[in-house]
Amino acid sequence: MHFSNFSCLTLKILIKNSKGVFHQAIRMSSATLQQSVWENDPELYEMIKSEKKRQLRGLELIASENFTSTAVLNCLGSCLTNKYAEGYPGTRFYGGTKFVDQVETLCQNRALSAYRLSPDEWGVNVQPLSGSPANFAVYTGVVEPHGRIMGLDLPDGGHLTHGFFTQNKKISATSIFFESMPYKVNQESGLLDYEALHKTARLFKPKLIIAGVTCYSRVLDYKKFREICDDVGAILMADMAHISGLVVAGVTADPFEYCDIVTTTTHKSLRGPRAGLIFFRKGSKVNEKGEKVHYDFESKINGAVFPGLQGGPHENCIAAIATALKQASTPEFKEYATQIIRNAKRLGEGLQAKGYKVVTGGTDVHMLLIDLRSAKITGAKAEYILEECSIACNKNTVPGDKSALNPSGLRLGTPALTTRGFKESDIDQVVDYIDQAIKLGREIGVKSGPKLVDFKKAVHDAEFKDKVESIRNQVEAFSEKFTMPGFECY
Ligand SMILES: *Cc1c(COP(=O)(O)O)cnc(C)c1O
Repeated sequence: MHFSNFSCLTLKILIKNSKGVFHQAIRMSSATLQQSVWENDPELYEMIKSEKKRQLRGLELIASENFTSTAVLNCLGSCLTNKYAEGYPGTRFYGGTKFVDQVETLCQNRALSAYRLSPDEWGVNVQPLSGSPANFAVYTGVVEPHGRIMGLDLPDGGHLTHGFFTQNKKISATSIFFESMPYKVNQESGLLDYEALHKTARLFKPKLIIAGVTCYSRVLDYKKFREICDDVGAILMADMAHISGLVVAGVTADPFEYCDIVTTTTHKSLRGPRAGLIFFRKGSKVNEKGEKVHYDFESKINGAVFPGLQGGPHENCIAAIATALKQASTPEFKEYATQIIRNAKRLGEGLQAKGYKVVTGGTDVHMLLIDLRSAKITGAKAEYILEECSIACNKNTVPGDKSALNPSGLRLGTPALTTRGFKESDIDQVVDYIDQAIKLGREIGVKSGPKLVDFKKAVHDAEFKDKVESIRNQVEAFSEKFTMPGFECY
């Protein structure tokens, strides 16, 4: 669509020439272009290598992260990144799309079959650049501007894109362009309060309700969500970003059974590239009242993704999703997903045995939330001392937290470590390191006083420096022994 005259001319010459001259033309013009990043840009390459070392040596407990496969990395670094293909397979706005059409169609077919969906009942859009744009595309497509949306509140474990706003500011674009109303978890039990959701939904009459979480360690009751949506006439959308690897493996509740639309990221427990997917019902079905319901999501959602919000799809990434879905459909992946949950349960039990409080008392899935209020250390300090000990996780609000800016919890997840081959006995060792680091953090906090800046300084004081380093050295020596997919140095 946007070739300049010059590039058009160059292209014609290259195509007209014989094969030999074509190759020579590339070689002559591309001494620089043929260099690897380590030859061509050592400054940047050093940074990438350092990140690789950090990933290898650390214990990765961020619940949304994973280590993707070599095949996924191959696709991401392939020639597919060069291709413009605005539109959809068969209806592109560009020529030369024969092969990317095959790639994208393969990805769509694999997405449906991986989640055991019939192509008569479900469609899928594989172009969203990530989870947030996928969600925004759904709202854009099926909820009119300033239409009403309900999602789990961010401090209670919902995602930003489910409509977060504060007293003074609309934070998420979902709350700027649509009207969002949060629902909550019970502040004592930490469990989702379906009854309150139902009552609020009756008052608010949302067009769409989101069943999805970023920090919640229990299985969602999609059937209950369905009943609430039917009662108030809302569309039910599941955002299974965190758990899509567990769903594909069939080891947790299946949102497809009850939902109209399902969105997901592909880089979390699914272990693919950084991208998003939108599944939508199509065709028609007869509801419980015997009425025929016709779904019109397909054109609305596809139109919202392109041309509504996005331009050219990232076909390299779509290829990577396709290969990740192939892997995710194997018995080996099912075993992986089962082990993720076993490891998360073991992590929760281990921490509880050491006296830590786990929100909701445990986990059914890949992650858990520790409530540090009785452990006498804040989430921010715990996150910092753990990071200094090469253990990566993130601070998070716990139900009942007074301030979202100073949260009292830590969110921990097992998909990444499970990819590296961690089993329950290895998790016991991880529990021990976490406990050592938090105990040291508490000791440092007593000396430094309440302020985070003072705490961070104290961690590097002569008095504590060696203790931190000792834990870090143990963690790194332990972690380095485990396998890691991908390229050796980068
Ligand atoms: C991670 C996540 C997203 C957003 O994904 P990005 O790829 O970071 O945009 C959306 N919804 C939920 C529930 C998530 O956990």
